Amino acid sequence: MALYVQKFGGTSVGSIDRIQNVARRVAKTREQGHDVIVVVSAMSGETDRLLGLGRNLSGRPAEREMDVLVASGEQVSAALTCIALNEMGVKAISLLGHQARIETDNVFTKARITRVDDQRVRKALADGCVVVVAGFQGMDSEGNITTLGRGGSDTSAVAIAAATRADVCEIYTDVEGVFTADPNVCPSARKVDRICYEEMLELAALGAKVLQIRSVELAMKYAVPIHVRSTFSDAEGTMVTGEDEALESVVVAGVTSDKKAAKVTVRNVPDQPGVCAGIFEPLAEANVTVDMIIQNVATDGTTDLTFTVSRDDLTRMRDIADDLVKRIGASDVTIDDDVVKVSIVGLGMRSHAGVAAKMFRLLADEGINIEAISTSEIKTSCLIRAKYAELAVRVLHDGFGLGLAR
Ligand code: ADP
Ligand code: ASP
Ligand code: MG
Repeated sequence: MALYVQKFGGTSVGSIDRIQNVARRVAKTREQGHDVIVVVSAMSGETDRLLGLGRNLSGRPAEREMDVLVASGEQVSAALTCIALNEMGVKAISLLGHQARIETDNVFTKARITRVDDQRVRKALADGCVVVVAGFQGMDSEGNITTLGRGGSDTSAVAIAAATRADVCEIYTDVEGVFTADPNVCPSARKVDRICYEEMLELAALGAKVLQIRSVELAMKYAVPIHVRSTFSDAEGTMVTGEDEALESVVVAGVTSDKKAAKVTVRNVPDQPGVCAGIFEPLAEANVTVDMIIQNVATDGTTDLTFTVSRDDLTRMRDIADDLVKRIGASDVTIDDDVVKVSIVGLGMRSHAGVAAKMFRLLADEGINIEAISTSEIKTSCLIRAKYAELAVRVLHDGFGLGLAR
């Protein structure tokens, strides 16, 4: 007998029929004699609808209240899934984030899980129940409802799988696994049978929303095997696991684009020690995550500093921008969100020269201008105009031969 965590995303629970489909899958695993913890997302479109309701009332709604609001989406799916399971004769109990003891910090709208106390979940399993946990939500140390950021149900699932030492964490979604590029953007994208945590971490960080980045971080830390697969078929999906020595690493494993980046330029910054700290410390304090950073050569004792932030953090960025300019003696800040970041990721980039150069050439041949670059051992990212996002993904994907069988 094994312990399965099975997470179902928004599309998988998007209608009453689909919730019945989920219940059938869970019932089947149960019939095979396994214990099952189910984690559900809100029905597709529901989180956006709820966010819209809050934003209709205020341009700057309190983040604590937004969390109370959006967490309701997962509450509905968890209850409906239990009702469907009960109707099939399967004993099931729903638990909200706080009932499942998913403890988080108090950064509303993007809280981090600090601890999962699995006692209540274990007791329910021992009572013979399928436990259906509302994904995406937790509770801070004062008992406030928090949410884990968009796509956060993946992280709920992996955290619960880690805490309960589940045998596998299955992520059921609307595609058959992890592909070499978003299959909805790139027709020649190919499903991969296996991918290692490191590559998946980069792909998730760089826009492949099939898994939330924090879920991959947790899976890697606690060695939780993840199986990404389709809700709508029985086909094997993609195993996300540790790096396997026997597996020959490919140079480029995947291509991705991130539409959530915005380019920020601070102009006429005095070129002296301490200004970078003066800019990035307040950003860090305001919980704004910074990515690519470019500092131009100084002329006349001043320089321009360009960096990218997530569009989700733009309100916070704008809140502190004026004060920041004044404090460091810069002239102004411009924010440009008509950009997109395209990236190539692969372990093999560690040991192969010329990969970045090939990426720049492929983009250049399409007349796509590169506005910023960042690299790490296993990825290269380029910031380009937003209108080229899909073209760039396809050109890089096919240019690196990813559509062909390995
Ligand atoms: P869920 O609601 O099940 O959590 P998401 O919409 O969050 O599903 O994630 C699944 C989507 O991720 C797919 O529909 C696909 O468009 C997108 N995606 C982006 N990059 C990739 C990739 N490399 N492999 C698979 N899917 C990807
Ligand atoms: N419902 C949340 C969202 O849409 C969490 C999730 O689906 O994982 O982002
Ligand atoms: Mg998701």
